[in-house]
Amino acid sequence: MQLQQNPAGDQPTAQPGVLEVITGPMFSGKSEELIRRLKRARIARQRVACYKPDIDLRYHRTAIASHSEQTHEAVVVTPNSDRLREALFFSGQVDQVEVVGLDEVQFFDDGIQPLAMELVALGKRVILAGLDTTFANEPFGPVPALMALADKVTKLNAVCMTCGAPAIHTQRLGTSKELVMVGAAGMYEARCRQHFQPYVEAPAAEQMELSAVIA
Ligand SMILES: [Zn+2]
Repeated sequence: MQLQQNPAGDQPTAQPGVLEVITGPMFSGKSEELIRRLKRARIARQRVACYKPDIDLRYHRTAIASHSEQTHEAVVVTPNSDRLREALFFSGQVDQVEVVGLDEVQFFDDGIQPLAMELVALGKRVILAGLDTTFANEPFGPVPALMALADKVTKLNAVCMTCGAPAIHTQRLGTSKELVMVGAAGMYEARCRQHFQPYVEAPAAEQMELSAVIA
């Protein structure tokens, strides 16, 4: 964090940081891109803190995992912006790092937005990764607002499992709740606009709940 003289007074103020959002459907490489950026920051000798919600149980409990099996150490937190704030500020960790990464940001409440902007105001580089839409094709939680406020938005495409075209949608397959604890593969597919059929049978609240378990 570079310091500059505050022209109005004696206290030096931090230069603002940046907010980066990585979004797109499942299987578009969001976690992979987040991991790539965090690794590059580490190579540049920047100190990195990485968080993920504890509802993402696939693969590893204490690491971000991408579908391509790249991993990065992550602190597991409940998807609650107050808990994340505590993890950052009460421990003093926020003073120790230059870069804050957060995966599966779609599961957090709207309080994640002012928290992200507060970190940016403190000079942090904040990198958030998450789904932009639900499998009912509705904007997902706080992600659209974060995209609007970001310095940089990277919207990734997956590959349509039906035709091979670039895919912007997450297609939920089947309706059985018994499949809930199975990993993402087989439950969801990436689809293009032409081949996407929004999953509309379950109420939105239930969809959020199910996706929280397996997304
Ligand atoms: Zn297609």
